[in-house]
Amino acid sequence: MTTTAAPDVTAAGRSDIAHHLHPYTQLRQLEQDGPLVIVQGDGVHVVDEHGKRYLEGMAGLWCASLGFSERRLADAAHRQMLQLPYYHAFSGKVPGPVTELVKTLMAWAPTPELQRGRVLFANSGSESNDTAFKLVRYYNNARGRPAKKKIIARQKGYHGVTAAAASLSGLPTMHQHFDLPLPGVLRVSAPHFYGNGKPGETEAQFVDRLVQELQDLIAAEGADTIAAFIAEPVQGAGGVVIPPDGYFPRIQAVLKQHDILLIADEVITGFGRLGQPFGTNVFGLQPDMVTVAKMLTSAYVPMSALMVSDAVYQVVADASASVGTFGHGYTYSGHPLACAVALETLRIYTDDDIIGHVQRVAPRLQAGLRQFAEHPLVGEARGLGLIGALELAADPASRKPFDPKRGVGAYLVKRAQAHGLILRVLAGDIIAFSPPLVITEAQIDELLAKTALALDDTLAWVRGTA
Ligand code: PMP
Repeated sequence: MTTTAAPDVTAAGRSDIAHHLHPYTQLRQLEQDGPLVIVQGDGVHVVDEHGKRYLEGMAGLWCASLGFSERRLADAAHRQMLQLPYYHAFSGKVPGPVTELVKTLMAWAPTPELQRGRVLFANSGSESNDTAFKLVRYYNNARGRPAKKKIIARQKGYHGVTAAAASLSGLPTMHQHFDLPLPGVLRVSAPHFYGNGKPGETEAQFVDRLVQELQDLIAAEGADTIAAFIAEPVQGAGGVVIPPDGYFPRIQAVLKQHDILLIADEVITGFGRLGQPFGTNVFGLQPDMVTVAKMLTSAYVPMSALMVSDAVYQVVADASASVGTFGHGYTYSGHPLACAVALETLRIYTDDDIIGHVQRVAPRLQAGLRQFAEHPLVGEARGLGLIGALELAADPASRKPFDPKRGVGAYLVKRAQAHGLILRVLAGDIIAFSPPLVITEAQIDELLAKTALALDDTLAWVRGTA
């Protein structure tokens, strides 16, 4: 099947369509519409090839915490490129900047157990979750529990796209046609009260039901076959799902009772998105492993890390001694350029009190989003810190969603773009907000005003008057 690009697609767009297989894109639609070509960054704004400016309401993909023109990061990268552009950490060597980064990262690590532990670097959230997937096997083999290998993951979870990370993820499009998930992944419900709560059920009863579901699953499978439970503190790509009060403490108690490790995927929530350094701090988690990426470098260069508790590390180190080497690692694990940028990012977070800033400005975003709960298209407005969502509904009172085929959320995002605001639609017509952490209150007002315009445009279209 061939499709023809629309006449207004630029030369750059045509070149892209002709040769680029886009990630996470409706491919045939793109062949007609062409891409939005972004050519420059300026604070929380980006600029397209025609010079049009957009407020980046998603910080790219939940990641460009310091906006798109932080000079200190460019300078740190430049200095490192000149001094040592590449070295590796295999077989007893280490690039110089790693030694400083691990010390700094350990000071950020959200629990004493993790602060005493170790960090393994990679290049993406997917790779770090893939590493966690492998490491729980290694750990339980080392402990003489070869049957204890399954991992419990949640519906609507997003953990990345490698074969293992996509298997842990709980979104259908990540599995369909890919013959995933891999065996050994168990699934429980998302703590999404708006979507999964039963009529008349209270949040507390909903939590009871989720805890029971987990207990039943463990009883059915056998705790001696289950190694770990993986969770994002706030589910991001699955719909910005904020867990109800009491959810994590109750889940964690069940896991501890059955010697099941907790892996906290903090790829979105790590480094201040929720107004605390980590989601682990917000929800009082005691994870055995934590994955981070994205805001570790403000996304200026790819880097991710897996933090491992001291207890897990000691078992792994003993076991690796018996086979001679720990057989895992990437060419770019601890890449010096990424280390230099991560270090400078973490320094800026401290120098500029970025988390304090999030605490100061987040209420404005959250209050503004909550006001949209009154809009006729909005079923629920929710969020925490500088992350939020509007879940659209055909009938907000009964929470009836729109027919996904109508593309109501996609239309809204297109209208926002026309008004100079970049947002993202998630499955279920959920509009996500995750601006750079450096956003000011005035810029939050701009974001909210443009969202209001997009909502009204969409309402007119839905009512057939557009
Ligand atoms: N975990 C979470 C919670 C994520 O949001 C993402 C990416 N959006 C990933 C893992 C995967 O990260 P990456 O795209 O860097 O592989």
